[in-house]
Amino acid sequence: MSLFDWFANRRKSDASGKERQEREIADGLWSKCKVCGVLTYTKDLRANQLVCLECGHHMIVSSEQRVQQLIDPNTWASLDDELRPIDALKFRDRKSYSDRLRETQEKTGLADAVITGLGQLDGLPIALGVMDFRFMGGSMGSVVG
Ligand SMILES: [Zn+2]
Repeated sequence: MSLFDWFANRRKSDASGKERQEREIADGLWSKCKVCGVLTYTKDLRANQLVCLECGHHMIVSSEQRVQQLIDPNTWASLDDELRPIDALKFRDRKSYSDRLRETQEKTGLADAVITGLGQLDGLPIALGVMDFRFMGGSMGSVVG
């Protein structure tokens, strides 16, 4: 479906507009800004570094997305992928830190709150470490330390 067709269909039926809008957001074609509520074509939003084109709100950017935004294509080589956090203090609040780590790893697909690597930025070789808020708010653990 072309973008023109999409707009034509959208104008035709407004009765199920909200339902259709939610489906298209779920498909990832469109993204809705949490601040201003404006729908933006996800491709355009990515091209604008995940900053809302309408109000300038900065959306959450995963560590993988930040690497893609910064590093020249095909130059990223991750470091220390094998490092895993440990629970040296046997910390526990409402649940054990070990359980919290395992749940967060399953939910995010990340090993820890930081990813590191080497790559090029506009042709310049750099080393980069990126924190990921999705992993317990990017908190300091044994791997981040
Ligand atoms: Zn916005």
